[in-house]
Amino acid sequence: MPLIQAKNLTLAYDGIPVAVGIDFEVSEGDYLCVVGENGSGKSTLLKAILGLHPIAGGTLEISPEARRAGVGYLPQHTPAQRDFPASVREIVESGCLHHAGRRPFFRCDTKNHVRTALERMGITHLANECYRELSGGQQQRVLLARAYCATGKLIVLDEPIAGLDPIAMQEMYRLIAELNHGGVAVVMVSHDVAAAVGYATHILHVDKETSFFGTTEEYVRSPRGRKFGCMGRWNIPDTRSVLDLRHGDAGGDHT
Ligand code: ADP
Repeated sequence: MPLIQAKNLTLAYDGIPVAVGIDFEVSEGDYLCVVGENGSGKSTLLKAILGLHPIAGGTLEISPEARRAGVGYLPQHTPAQRDFPASVREIVESGCLHHAGRRPFFRCDTKNHVRTALERMGITHLANECYRELSGGQQQRVLLARAYCATGKLIVLDEPIAGLDPIAMQEMYRLIAELNHGGVAVVMVSHDVAAAVGYATHILHVDKETSFFGTTEEYVRSPRGRKFGCMGRWNIPDTRSVLDLRHGDAGGDHT
């Protein structure tokens, strides 16, 4: 069974549908980008995947394997979150709560997991810093480390690059691609359709009436993809290196 499988899914608030007829699946190693206009239900879909929002119709199945491993979540960044008065280490550790269960103390393997997550995101030197003193790019790397600590299987990211400067944005894309290359399936909401096409294996384009789901190549060739491609001009940086990374030959000579 795929990690996530949705069939004819409807999402609604107070009985009023915001998105209908959504079909998609996410398997091991996939990188799904969820795109669509503002208000089309992208964040609501992520909340439904996390079990935070009830579904109004159809089915949305999360495999037992994904449930066991846990789902890492990077929520949309709000000003209140930016001001959170905790250290970087404390925030990353909080991602391990799912695995800590009822045990009151973090176990040794949890500490190792936190250390690995800090290293992979390049923020070990910030471990004792206060989160709210960090730059936007550093804060997003902390939240990505937290999401990674929650799972080895599936992370769900809600606009992780929103508000970042171009360098921090590229760094986030690289870190997410590396996690994906390491075997973590990614579901990411993004407004950056052009970059989504460069990094994702699959695209879900949600719409109030009909949604598109397919491989990135299928999306680029589809009428909807062509329409958005014209608008975004498919400006895809570093696509080849990301795809090479995915195919395991990132160290090769690309000149
Ligand atoms: P997106 O992430 O694609 O911008 P959302 O999933 O945030 O869209 O919202 C989809 C629609 O649902 C929007 O019209 C939004 O106004 C509405 N909505 C979001 N949250 C709520 C809520 N808590 N109660 C009622 N309507 C909501």
